Amino acid sequence: MNKKSPLEFSDIAKCISGLFCVALEASIDYPGNNEGDIQTVSPHNRITISKGTQLVLNPEIQAWQYHIKRHDWLVTPEGNPRGYIQPHSLRELWFHTGTRCNLGCWFCLEGAGPQVERLESLTFEDVRPLIDEAMALGVEQFCFTGGEPFVNHDIIAILEYALKNRPCLVLTNGTRPLRERMEEVRRLAGLSNKLRFRVSLDHPDRERHDEGRGHGSFALALESLIELRRAGFELSIARHITPDENAAEVNKQYRSIFRQTGLPLDTNIIPFPQLHRPFDRIETPHITENCMTTYKDETTRREFMCAYSKMVVKREGKVKVYACTLVDDDPDYDLGTTLHESMKFRIMLKHHRCYACFAAGACCSEN
Ligand code: SF4
Repeated sequence: MNKKSPLEFSDIAKCISGLFCVALEASIDYPGNNEGDIQTVSPHNRITISKGTQLVLNPEIQAWQYHIKRHDWLVTPEGNPRGYIQPHSLRELWFHTGTRCNLGCWFCLEGAGPQVERLESLTFEDVRPLIDEAMALGVEQFCFTGGEPFVNHDIIAILEYALKNRPCLVLTNGTRPLRERMEEVRRLAGLSNKLRFRVSLDHPDRERHDEGRGHGSFALALESLIELRRAGFELSIARHITPDENAAEVNKQYRSIFRQTGLPLDTNIIPFPQLHRPFDRIETPHITENCMTTYKDETTRREFMCAYSKMVVKREGKVKVYACTLVDDDPDYDLGTTLHESMKFRIMLKHHRCYACFAAGACCSEN
């Protein structure tokens, strides 16, 4: 492949700085996009440009940003500029503890299961430097998802360290792995930062929940909720949205369960649409820049998860930062190995799950 010789940041700035005196944002497209070309930024601000790399000056942070440059990243199949999110902060950092799970639910958006190693288990040594880096970037909360976080050997040590720094949220199915470690979990209740749990209770109907997760899992999840509450943790539940449901009626059924079991009636209920399994090819409408300015405004754009959070995963032995919790199956959303580096990316709304964020307000966060 015919490669350009690397250019220094200063060379590029010299060549094109004039352009930005008159435009808030401009870009340079190097013709001849080659799929698979990779752009890199070293810790010393040296940019190696491969063909097709697009650079833009972000006026908000007065810094050059480099983009994944393939045509289909930037433009929809109809030829319209893709909608995007410009990250504004790192309020939340999510860790994917690995795709191993004691259950193997058909609907799992992570495709997790007992033997699934698509995303490897993060170790304490993997996580610690990213917690430290996130603190320097002003993170407000750490969140943990899987797979099932409590099958991860290091989860307690990871939580202890994270809780020394910031409040944490853990998503769990509330079944055997959590129950086997409940004694260790209880000890995390007395730390200076709060730990919250979000337990999956897919449907208020026990049989329906167990159809997806296995016989007895509803009862275990409910027992876990009660024990966690007794131990002093804050709680929420994650539920499935079913087509044509009456949301108010469904939530009423959950409140009735909360009342019967002594859980707080105001326990947060987080509804999730069907997000499909990883690598599923789902056709959704393409989100254009025009959609993002017609149907969204500055305030609602800032509420997309990719505007204020990132997710850390481990794949093929490497720890990587992804744009959000929903897109770990598309390498275009792999933003590098450090949080500082990842903050330079504008996030194009290309993945089919972006449409769930756009149209249904899908969000793993709960602040
Ligand atoms: S799935 Fe949602 S949060 Fe993730 S990149 Fe797409 S729009 Fe952003």
